[in-house]
Amino acid sequence: MKSRNISLVAAMEDIIARCSYCSMGMVDKDNKPYVLHMNFGYEDGVLYLHSAPKGKKIDVLQNNNNVCLAFSTDHVLEHQNADVACSYSMKYRSVLVFGKTEFIDDLSEKRQILNLIMKQYTGRCDYEYSDPAAKSVTVYKVIIEKMEGRAYGY
Ligand SMILES: Cc1cc2nc3c(=O)[nH]c(=O)nc-3n(C[C@H](O)[C@H](O)[C@H](O)COP(=O)(O)OP(=O)(O)OC[C@H]3O[C@@H](n4cnc5c(N)ncnc54)[C@H](O)[C@@H]3O)c2cc1C
Repeated sequence: MKSRNISLVAAMEDIIARCSYCSMGMVDKDNKPYVLHMNFGYEDGVLYLHSAPKGKKIDVLQNNNNVCLAFSTDHVLEHQNADVACSYSMKYRSVLVFGKTEFIDDLSEKRQILNLIMKQYTGRCDYEYSDPAAKSVTVYKVIIEKMEGRAYGY
């Protein structure tokens, strides 16, 4: 099976829209990789994330805001011969996003972003958040610098 690059932004956005989470790669202060799975929202070329205000990832991102996020979907295991390990492969469509995170402090912007994240999972973006609820969560966006798509077997 062959892989092909996906260059159309709309095709990459379609892959992102069909993912339920992404994997976010970061670089910690010791120059070691740190990868976490994250829920997300996406709109108009910007990715949105949220989390508890404390923890390793917040420390890591405050020190180095460069991130790489991986999305993949349409996973299908195929084989030519069930008895030959090397004949197995997995079809997929995937997107890599490279960018920088930016923390959001403004409460009204945080509410809009939380609803963008909710929209990814429920299709709804009309939820309300009290001030304490909006303050208790850390919200950040990923300013995208580069996006690459690839399909394998499709
Ligand atoms: C599908 C999915 C979606 C998720 N969505 C979100 C989200 O939207 N927002 C969010 O904040 N978190 C989300 N998580 C959890 C996230 O991946 C992290 O586990 C969590 O955010 C804690 O990260 P931290 O850096 O704050 O770790 P800390 O709580 O500071 O943990 C300290 C140590 O625990 C280890 N650790 C951290 N997380 C994990 C883990 N998942 N498994 C094993 N070891 C771990 C690390 O080595 C770290 O050094 C999601 C997880 C999954 C599987």
